[in-house]
Amino acid sequence: MRKFQGEKLVVATHNEGKLDEVRALFANKSMEILSSKSLDLPEPIETEDTFIGNARIKAHSASKITNLPALADDSGITIDALNGEPGVYTADWAETPSGRDFSLAMKKTHEALAKISAPYPRLAQFRCTLVLAWPDGHDEIFEGALAGEVVWPPRGLDGHGYDPIFQPKGYDITCGEMSFESKNNISHRSIAFKKLSRACFD
Ligand code: IMP
Repeated sequence: MRKFQGEKLVVATHNEGKLDEVRALFANKSMEILSSKSLDLPEPIETEDTFIGNARIKAHSASKITNLPALADDSGITIDALNGEPGVYTADWAETPSGRDFSLAMKKTHEALAKISAPYPRLAQFRCTLVLAWPDGHDEIFEGALAGEVVWPPRGLDGHGYDPIFQPKGYDITCGEMSFESKNNISHRSIAFKKLSRACFD
């Protein structure tokens, strides 16, 4: 397992919600965190059909261009009754000609479940794969999952993406109704982060 030893880490995301979560999770670390958005890096095309494959594309692309270690996440929601969809296509369900619309993506999700009269609870998982890549091509991979169910209608204005229709197992509120800190304590991303942190940053 390779340790991170530099002073700068590139977080390969253009998503402000994810970047805020990453900054909070690394709050007690001393390195400077740069984002591909702030560095104006191109967004590589995610051509793989797995979370790991796409996270590797993003991490290696940012690391090669900047010559710095880069961390990428690929994440999404997998829904049991939809055979794991939208999965790696979670963000694509939000695409519109004028940008991403997550209200639309949540509606599509609900309609896909309604169409097949999916039984309740509509079990689902938020999944996150993290890849830390170095300019020499080495990488380390960590995964996290948060189990829960899809609910309708959406509840809560906090969070991002599909948070308002995802209720974690053991909770009676959605991720959209949780404080930023509460969600960060249990999230798929924080589970993967804790593994990464222990392995590469301690
Ligand atoms: P990607 O990892 O950038 O390909 O996008 C994954 C998509 O999954 C995001 O755009 C979100 O819509 C969704 N997603 C991932 N993590 C979360 C989360 O913590 N809450 C809500 N939606 C999420």
